[in-house]
Amino acid sequence: MPILEIQRAEKIHDYIQKLEKLTNIPLRSSPIILSSPRQQVSLELPLEEIKQSYEYVEQIYEDIGEHELVFKAIKTGWEYLNSGYKIVPTSKEEYFRQINEAYVFQAARERGYTVDENYFKEHKFCYGQYETYYAVHEIMQRNAFDFLLSKSYSPSFIHTYANWYKCIKLISTQFIIPTTTIEKKIPHILDQLWIISHNINQLRLLGIEIVGEGKFLSRNQPRTSVNNEFLNQLGYEIYQVASWWCRVDPYRVICEFLKASGIFPDATKYLIGAELNTIDEYVCGICHAPMVRWGWDWIQRYQIGNSTVLAHKDCVMRKQHSGRY
Ligand SMILES: [Zn+2]
Repeated sequence: MPILEIQRAEKIHDYIQKLEKLTNIPLRSSPIILSSPRQQVSLELPLEEIKQSYEYVEQIYEDIGEHELVFKAIKTGWEYLNSGYKIVPTSKEEYFRQINEAYVFQAARERGYTVDENYFKEHKFCYGQYETYYAVHEIMQRNAFDFLLSKSYSPSFIHTYANWYKCIKLISTQFIIPTTTIEKKIPHILDQLWIISHNINQLRLLGIEIVGEGKFLSRNQPRTSVNNEFLNQLGYEIYQVASWWCRVDPYRVICEFLKASGIFPDATKYLIGAELNTIDEYVCGICHAPMVRWGWDWIQRYQIGNSTVLAHKDCVMRKQHSGRY
C-alpha cells in the first residue's frame, strides 16, 4: 500500500534535486533563513487617548492587508488588535484561493497601486507559500503544545510558551507595501505579516518573504526589487526564507523564524529534527526513504537499540504495532 507521507516526501525531494540542477544552486544544503534584518524595528504605540474604532481592524481581518490600512488600524483600534481576537483570521482554503488567483494584485489595484497587466498573466505561486501558511495554522490552532513535542512540560516551558504565544497579535496573509513614497505606488508583496507586541508601548511588524522557485523558474516574472532599508524605514523587519525548505519542513521554517526574530529564541530546541542541517538528512531511520513534515507529527523519534533515530510517523506506528506480538 503506498503511504502518503513517503509518496509526498519522495516527490518533493525529487523536485528539489531537479530544481538544483536547473538553477545550479546548492539548494539542499542552503540556509533556511536567507536574510534577516540587521536590527529589530520597534514602533511606539500612540500614547494619547484615541477613541477606539473597530473599522480598520475589521478590514484587516476580512481582506488582504496593506501598509496604510494597518497603520490606521493600529492607531485607531489597537485595543481590539491587541486582544488577539483573531490571530490568524484567514482560512487555509481562502489563502489558497488568494494565491492561486493572484488576488493580491487585484487588491493592490483597488487600493490605488499601479499594477502591470503582466503581474496577472505571469504570476506563478509556489506551494511553499501555502505549506508555510498551513503550518502556521497548525501551530497556532494547536497552541503549539502538541507540535513542539517537549517531553517535559516543565513550568519554565509553559511560561516561555505562554509568553511567545501571547505576544502575537495578528498573522496576516499576503500583505501590500508601497515600494516608493512618490505618487505612483508600485506594490511590494509580503507572503505573511506578523504583528507582535512584547510590551504595552511597542509593537513590531515582521514580514516573511518566501523566496524561491517562482523567481528561478520564470525569469521574466515581474518582481519589484525593493530595498530592505526602505522597508525598515517604513517600520518593517523583513525575513526571507527559502521556499524549497518550506516544501520539506514548513514547521522548521516557522521555528527558525521565531528564533531569528526573537519571538521565541528557543523554538528550535523543542522541535523534533531541528538538528538536521541539510535537506538530504531528512531520511527515515527505519525505511530509509526521504521525509518531509507536512503534518505536524510526520517526523517522530524512534529507539533502535541504544540509538534514537528520526522516522516517518507511519513507520514508527507500524513498528510499535508489530512489537506487540
Ligand atoms: Zn520510514
